[in-house]
Amino acid sequence: MITVDEALAHLFALAGPLETETVPLTDAAGRVLSETVHATRDQPPFAASSMDGYALKGVEADLHAQFMVIGEAAAGHGFAGQVGPGQAVRIFTGAPIPDGADKVVIQEDVTRAGDLVTISDDPGPKTNIRPAGGDFSKGTALEAPRRLSPQDVALLASMNIPNVPVTRKPVVALISTGDELVLPGETPGPDQIIASNTFGLKAMLEGMGCTARILPIARDTEASLRMAFDLAAGADLIVTIGGASVGDHDLVGDVAHAMGMERSFYKIAMRPGKPLMAGRMGEAAMVGLPGNPVSAMVCGHVFVAPLLRKMQGLGETPLRALQAKLSEPLGANGPRQHYMRAVIDSGTVRAFDNQDSSLLTVLSAANALLVRAPHDPARKAEEMVDYIPL
Ligand code: AMP
Ligand code: MG
Repeated sequence: MITVDEALAHLFALAGPLETETVPLTDAAGRVLSETVHATRDQPPFAASSMDGYALKGVEADLHAQFMVIGEAAAGHGFAGQVGPGQAVRIFTGAPIPDGADKVVIQEDVTRAGDLVTISDDPGPKTNIRPAGGDFSKGTALEAPRRLSPQDVALLASMNIPNVPVTRKPVVALISTGDELVLPGETPGPDQIIASNTFGLKAMLEGMGCTARILPIARDTEASLRMAFDLAAGADLIVTIGGASVGDHDLVGDVAHAMGMERSFYKIAMRPGKPLMAGRMGEAAMVGLPGNPVSAMVCGHVFVAPLLRKMQGLGETPLRALQAKLSEPLGANGPRQHYMRAVIDSGTVRAFDNQDSSLLTVLSAANALLVRAPHDPARKAEEMVDYIPL
């Protein structure tokens, strides 16, 4: 058995970043920027008013000073002339500051009678002007790689970048294996259960910008597993679920091997999820997840998601643990790294009593995985422990 960190290192060696493609800005959110892009203009492109008021010369902006209003500047409609001594231009937010003016007195600080305005309240030192290029200037970079947030998309739009270079979406084939499984919505026989793992994993992987294809359930026969692997052709990553243990009906390892899988490792010192295998199958990486639903989902977070982030061009990023205070004591951990289903609330973390790896209700109620290192000693309440938010 190898450690979680060793397994991750082996997994990262199985794949590199995929190619770049260009997508319209409207499709860019959640994708990974693959090349650094640069603003094609200054923003704002001119000094602009940040308030509604009167543009004039700052040295003249004394209490009770009077100005003749000589024109108007609104957003999208600048004032073409020059502001001279004793003159002001009526101005609105977003309008270019007219030549000759270097301050905007807000409209609340003046009184107006016809074309004459009088400063009636102390206008203070603020100019109320946003300088040209104050947000960014032409050439300002948005650095790759990064997963594009909605905020990034707004910035790219402002930079006038209508098409964005991103890493192609990894395609993942998800194969449930087992004679006992039927799809949600079907009527199971008396010995059957509903396949859940492929659906949870599809949601996880599509939530991180991958394309996940659920293949037909493979039965516990060599022929059926071979057919499933054939159907996975073209995927960047093949994920099987179940059949990875050492029982008589656990055929995934043997069939994958017979079909040319070069195995990188099998079995890790981890709870839940000991029988995990990985390797390469032709053009694709292959990960064989354990069948127990909690094991499959936890291994999805700990191994599959980081591997896919590497394919997306984000480099090698293991899950980063945070720290919180234990609300209840914990017994000593065994020889395997334990990812305990837990609840984190107001900086305090509590593990559920029942950690059986088949219990999806417990996983669904959890919002964190409390991480225990191999042989971690017993912990008292109030001690700090590692957790991974879910
Ligand atoms: P296995 O690794 O095939 O022995 O499966 C371990 C346990 O997980 C068994 O109880 C299976 O019925 C269950 N299991 C396997 N695959 C799935 C799946 N896709 N969805 C839900 N349960 C599964
Ligand atoms: Mg099975």
